[in-house]
Amino acid sequence: MRRKIIAANWKMNMTVNESGSYLDTFLLEVAEEKRLDIVLVPPFTTLAYVSERLNKIQNVKLGAQNMHWEKGGAFTGEISGAMIRELFARYVILGHSERRALFGETDAIVNKKTHAAHEASLKPIVCIGETLAERDADKVEQVLETQLRGSLAGLDAKMLTDTVLAYEPVWAIGTGRTASPEQAQAAHAFIRKVLTEISDAATADKVRIQYGGSVKPGNTVELLSQPDIDGALVGGAALVARDFAEIIKLTAAL
Ligand code: PEP
Repeated sequence: MRRKIIAANWKMNMTVNESGSYLDTFLLEVAEEKRLDIVLVPPFTTLAYVSERLNKIQNVKLGAQNMHWEKGGAFTGEISGAMIRELFARYVILGHSERRALFGETDAIVNKKTHAAHEASLKPIVCIGETLAERDADKVEQVLETQLRGSLAGLDAKMLTDTVLAYEPVWAIGTGRTASPEQAQAAHAFIRKVLTEISDAATADKVRIQYGGSVKPGNTVELLSQPDIDGALVGGAALVARDFAEIIKLTAAL
C-alpha cells in the first residue's frame, strides 16, 4: 500500500505575515491527521518561518519549489539542496511546468537537480505532463515517456522509491479544467508501466504518483480514488487554508 501524499504548491504567493494567518487556521484543522503525508511548499523567503511553525508538528512536512544542482558557488539567485535541507525541509518540487515553460528547464536539467536533491537527502517531487496541443495530437504517452526517461535517468531503485512523481497536464494547471478521473488514471497507469521498464515492477509499485491540475475539494474524491493516483499536488486551492485542509480530510477518509 502506497501512503497518500498531498502537497500545497504556494508558488510565488504568501509573505511571512500571510503564512502566519494561514497556518493559524490550517494547523488547527489538520494537526491530528496522521493517515497521509502532508507537505507545505512555500516560497524560499517563507521557508524558515514555516519550518519554525512546523517544528513540533510531526505529520506536516516542508518542501521547496526548486533548487540548483550545484552544491554552491557563483550562481547568483540560486539555492542549493543543503540550504533547503538545513531548514528541515524534506521535499523539493522539480521540473514544474511553469519552470519548464517560463525558465527553460529541460529534462536534462531536471535530471541533474533530481540527483542533487537525493544527495542532499531531499525527496524530489518530479513534475511531468503534456500540453493541450500534445494531447490533441495523441502524443500523451510519447511526451510522458520522454520526460520520465530524461528526468529520472541514472536513479537506482532506492532513489526512485524516494522520488514522488506529479502528473500535471499543463492544460489543467490553474485553468479550472481538470483531467477526468479516467484520463488521469490512464496517464498514471502508463507512468507506472514506464517506471517498471526503467526499474522493475516491485520498485514501480512503491513510487507515489500525484495528480495535479485544478484539484479542489469538489473533485478530490473522484480523482484520488483511482487506483494509481497516490496523492495530489495542489496550487490554487492550497492557497485557502480551509480548502486545502478539506482536500486532506477527504483524501484521508478514502
Ligand atoms: C500546480 O501548480 O502544481 C497546480 C496543480 O496548480 P493548480 O492546482 O492551481 O492547477
